[in-house]
Amino acid sequence: MPELSRVTSEAHEAMSIRYNTMVYELQQRGIKVLIMSLGEAYFDIPLFPMDDLPYPQVNHYSHSRGLPELREKLAQYFRTEYGVVFDPATEIIITAGSKAAIHMTLMSVLNPGDEVLYSEPAWVSYPEQIKLCYAIPVGIPYDRSVYDYESYITPRTKAIIINNPHNPRGSVLSGPELQDLLDLARQYDLWLLSDEAYSDFLIDDSFVSVARLDPEKKNSAVFNSMSKNYGISGWRIGYVISNGALINNVLKVNQHLVTCPATILESYLAKHFGELLEITKPQMRDVVCRRRQLAAYMDEIGLNYLPGTATFYFFVSIAPSRLSSEGFCTRLLQEDYVSIVPGIGYGHSCGRFVRVSVGAATLEENKFGLDRIRDLIRKTS
Ligand code: PMP
Repeated sequence: MPELSRVTSEAHEAMSIRYNTMVYELQQRGIKVLIMSLGEAYFDIPLFPMDDLPYPQVNHYSHSRGLPELREKLAQYFRTEYGVVFDPATEIIITAGSKAAIHMTLMSVLNPGDEVLYSEPAWVSYPEQIKLCYAIPVGIPYDRSVYDYESYITPRTKAIIINNPHNPRGSVLSGPELQDLLDLARQYDLWLLSDEAYSDFLIDDSFVSVARLDPEKKNSAVFNSMSKNYGISGWRIGYVISNGALINNVLKVNQHLVTCPATILESYLAKHFGELLEITKPQMRDVVCRRRQLAAYMDEIGLNYLPGTATFYFFVSIAPSRLSSEGFCTRLLQEDYVSIVPGIGYGHSCGRFVRVSVGAATLEENKFGLDRIRDLIRKTS
């Protein structure tokens, strides 16, 4: 066989997907697994009829910036919900999931050898996507604050990626922290790329979109997605918002890679946008309330985790255990049938942590899983 590309051969598999695959294999053998490794919350959402969507238009490609009606809905939503104004004709592209939006944006801003900063724990795809663009990922250890980022900037630094609210910390960056990062981006002529996929998983008003602080979006791009906020990750609808020049470059990449997301799904979402949000909003609040109860429970049973108030994730310390984070998660899955994700998948500094997602199971089930984590730490310390 001829040699394969080095850059794809050396890419790492997503750690969360690896553990979720192990879960499916156990389930296929008839074993019931408590799933605390999924990157999504489960909602109860109706399926509205599809036979009243514009036919036969839904059978065909849509505009490669995304269906205009859906872009309009998103523009209205950003205006009322986040105080962000963007032009739906020129400043957004709807893509097949925000994962693709992030990658196509990285392709549009990076040259080979550029460095990109992000904080650990980092969503598993940032370093791999950066490497797929022939650029260099620079993970900042988990115990540094945004005020330390400047010391990681070199002449090759081109962008900073932030994830706000944060998977897996559950933390939310404050207005002053975001302003500081934006000032840094302006000072050093960098892109501040803000992944806001969990923007509605909060029960307070602490979330600020970067696009609100940078109305002209000269130094920033915002990614968001219908995957988490709408509980429809499998539909693969995400988007990127930025200035017209960057969006035009992303558009070229999108046109050559995917053309447009599935037209029928865009059309359905444009039609039911408001209704769906009304249905999912209270469920998002419930998930975050459950997270708060589980934080209190961890305090009670002596589990430590990085501070946070949003999303449905915890980054839990397994520090007293002698096991590596991978060894820990594999043993928890094989012995207790509880699936969580090794922290090492989220960066070199994170080998003493595990990611716990509480979005797919009930309060009692999650408490059961947390008890098993505490027990395994005790057994192996
Ligand atoms: N960013 C973060 C932080 C995520 O956790 C995820 C999904 N796990 C994504 C982006 C991508 O989501 P999607 O492609 O489904 O929009």
